[in-house]
Amino acid sequence: LPKKRIALFGSTGSIGTQTLDVIANNPDRFTAEVLTAHSNDELLVEQALRFKPNIVVIGDERKYPHVKAALANTDTKVFAGEQALEEVASMDVYDVMLAAIVGFAGLRPTLRAVEQGKAIALANKETLVVAGDIVMQKAVEYRAPIIPVDSEHSAIFQCLVGETRNRIEKVILTASGGPFLGKKPNYLVNVKRDHALQHPNWNMGAKITIDSATLMNKGLEMIEARWLFNLQPDQVSVQVHPQSIIHSMVQFEDGSIKAQMGLPDMKLPIQYALTFPQRLPNNFPRYNFRKPAQLTFEEPDTKTFRNLVLATDALFKGGNLPCVLNAANEIAVFAFLRNRIGFLDMTDLIERTMNQVPWIEKPTLEEYFESDAEARNFAASVIKL
Ligand code: NDP
Ligand code: MG
Repeated sequence: LPKKRIALFGSTGSIGTQTLDVIANNPDRFTAEVLTAHSNDELLVEQALRFKPNIVVIGDERKYPHVKAALANTDTKVFAGEQALEEVASMDVYDVMLAAIVGFAGLRPTLRAVEQGKAIALANKETLVVAGDIVMQKAVEYRAPIIPVDSEHSAIFQCLVGETRNRIEKVILTASGGPFLGKKPNYLVNVKRDHALQHPNWNMGAKITIDSATLMNKGLEMIEARWLFNLQPDQVSVQVHPQSIIHSMVQFEDGSIKAQMGLPDMKLPIQYALTFPQRLPNNFPRYNFRKPAQLTFEEPDTKTFRNLVLATDALFKGGNLPCVLNAANEIAVFAFLRNRIGFLDMTDLIERTMNQVPWIEKPTLEEYFESDAEARNFAASVIKL
């Protein structure tokens, strides 16, 4: 087999570093041809010296001289800036983009890769939340396969292998419930950043860890699932499953339910997205049935975790509303991480922003960008950021 050339966008993050572990474990299968970072120039240089990519991009242009100097005696080309991310995504130097940039910033480079007909291993769920209709339509037009990395969506994708898509009755996304499962608003009102950053089952980047604590992550995932699997909004449901062993399920028209299970470890869905339709042996830890844990399920507490209600509204109403929800959420999480607003204020800010920005039923790509900017500006002005 020829080696798959991987462009790893967001190589310095949680998904990025775990992807490099998968690549390092399978040097005969994969090469890292492109690595991109935003601010972490030290780690980017270290990764480049180890993996010898064709190209690296450092987003923050002030860090360019350091990266350039550190890689001066290598064959790696160094680019800098936001525009360079899109340019490199358009180049014919890789086969698969592993899209692991966090937030709205991942949308433009991913769209470029789709327009080149590249395979996309998609971790950056915000890309589909913001403009899922356009991204999926372009993926068909340019024959760019989109393989999910998000563990729930990878589970659904694995359950669908060998099935006919139109036989899905519903998908059941499992949610750990996050660190505040069972807590009520009188407790959450005092929660601070460091507490919210401790997730029981997964070790992830800061933004998605806060999203998991507020359940916005599950809300974003409902919208992501809708686009990935071409579902109607009422075909997407959520079950809280605190052990995170069942990663998600599909219920078919005959009532049969398939689930995908395993220990919570993102390396598995990352590897699967890179090797699909094959599987590769590995030595990741295995689920042990001799140390039984109970697998339990419960309904999400939407009275306490109102983000799930807001995201469900956005899922059903569609148009630019998911884009607005996402933008307001990015501002809210940013402000919470800087101790500028409280835990429950995040939901209020998102709700106000969703009521403020005019609804557009069928936005163009430009209109999505405008809605994103409008929502960010409004949310930032409300909290005087
Ligand atoms: P991290 O915060 O750990 O990493 C984000 C990466 O994106 C870093 O490489 C960072 O660079 C880069 N980045 C940040 N801002 C920008 C920007 N404005 N422009 C370009 N690059 C930028 O995030 P995660 O790895 O946790 O998550 C990445 C994506 O994957 C998210 O969309 C998340 O929802 C999704 N995901 C993550 C999971 C996980 O387990 N972590 C699970 C499922 C989905 P630098 O660090 O150099 O500044
Ligand atoms: Mg997930």
